[in-house]
Amino acid sequence: MRIGIDIGGTKIEAIAIEGSHEVLRRRIASPRGDYDATIRAVSDLVAAIESERGHSGTVGVGIPGAISAATGLVKNANSTWLIGHPLDRDLEHALRRPVLLSNDANCFALSEAIDGAGRGARVVFGAILGTGVGGGIVVDGQVLDGPNAIAGEWGHNPLPWPRDDERPGPSCFCGHAGCIETWLAGPWVERHHASATTERISMQEIVERAGRGEASSNATLERYEERLARALAHVINLLDPDTIVLGGGLSNIERLYTNVPPRWNEWVFSDRVDTRLLRNVHGDSSGVRGAAWLWGRE
Ligand SMILES: [Zn+2]
Repeated sequence: MRIGIDIGGTKIEAIAIEGSHEVLRRRIASPRGDYDATIRAVSDLVAAIESERGHSGTVGVGIPGAISAATGLVKNANSTWLIGHPLDRDLEHALRRPVLLSNDANCFALSEAIDGAGRGARVVFGAILGTGVGGGIVVDGQVLDGPNAIAGEWGHNPLPWPRDDERPGPSCFCGHAGCIETWLAGPWVERHHASATTERISMQEIVERAGRGEASSNATLERYEERLARALAHVINLLDPDTIVLGGGLSNIERLYTNVPPRWNEWVFSDRVDTRLLRNVHGDSSGVRGAAWLWGRE
């Protein structure tokens, strides 16, 4: 049995996979701000699952952040109460077994690579387009981990081939300007739409209005598709993935899958581009499923 745990900002989710089937799922509210209670909550979830299934399992954990190789402590987590703690070691101690831990974008990419949209593909790039922009890389069914634990983190690269009106670009929280995230994350698109139209509406409203043929919303989505094509062309030139799977709230925009690939041809350094752009299969469950698959398929 593989147990996957996803520690999010508002909820902790757990699943158990036996063979290739999900047999059980639990969800509790995150003990926000309380690190010790978070360790206890994960430990209790695992104990409850093992008691219900009658046997023990491996445990993989996804977090919205990473363990710093330099310090061994959690960094970059938006569940800020995890930051600065040796989460993997504390969980291993509490659960009395080895625990594999990875960031939620890697878990997303892994879940889609194993039995989702990227099934059967050798190299999968999972791109998260949500309130932020992140990514993960899976090669031969394994998360690509690097010495800095940032493989696939393309959101704070600059938007490539910027036009004059895109320079220097918006100031990003990371300290730079014109990051991919400042063009492709939902809240930023709403801001760009507002400055183009003087009307502040939600991403969902923009998509709905574009669907009804409203010109200004359609123009916002066309700009979005063109920028996403450029940003992904950079990834294709560097990694040459078989499949790119989109996740996060903006992955629900159906027209991206037909409109973006024709546009990236202009920027990819190849006579023909066979990379596929696909919507995720497992949706919000991808993180917790990927956490379970951190221990591999065998
Ligand atoms: Zn940035």
